Amino acid sequence: MTIGLTGGIGSGKSTVAKVLESMGYPVFYSDQVAKELMASDQGLQTEITSHFGENAFENGKLNRAYLAEIIFSNPADKTILNQLIHPRVRASFAAFAQFSDSKLVFNEAAIIFETGAYSNFDKTILVTAPVEMRIDRVMKRDNCSREDVQNRMDNQWSDDRKTPLSDFVIKNGDADAVLYQIELIVEALLDHSTSS
Ligand code: ADP
Repeated sequence: MTIGLTGGIGSGKSTVAKVLESMGYPVFYSDQVAKELMASDQGLQTEITSHFGENAFENGKLNRAYLAEIIFSNPADKTILNQLIHPRVRASFAAFAQFSDSKLVFNEAAIIFETGAYSNFDKTILVTAPVEMRIDRVMKRDNCSREDVQNRMDNQWSDDRKTPLSDFVIKNGDADAVLYQIELIVEALLDHSTSS
């Protein structure tokens, strides 16, 4: 069974992913893999260069600032870049899941509802936390400004919009019993995976 694990920036989805890993479950980190593919997949690099120009790479490294500027001013370019990257990440996850002998295989990604990728998973888990708390956490984690966090949040849907699309929701406020919620969800998933 494949499970998409998502949540807005600062919600704690990476923290939940680490807990799942420590419980022995394989977790595929989509955003990390996307970065690795852009650094190593020559076919992808050629396609990015042919669409966005030679400046897309600098000394063989992705020129993030250049691409970010293009994408920021033109949403159609953002769609194109995603269309180049996402199928490759999907293929990489399919191989990851196929070679895993675990009943549950998790895929951690910042945006799965926004891109429609959620429909590729058997189940989805959304990690939520109050917006102010998320901003504080990220400012501390990344040593960045409130504005930086807010800009990144603006590209993501609100928890209210994502919640109805999610099979499970984990509340990860400072006082929430997160481990207990994770255990309950894993039990439900295992029940489901043996009954289907
Ligand atoms: P995301 O991957 O969703 O952006 P992280 O898992 O990196 O979020 O969490 C953001 C920051 O908040 C990290 O520094 C993490 O250690 C911290 N954090 C996550 N969950 C909690 C919690 N329940 N209580 C306190 N701090 C938390």
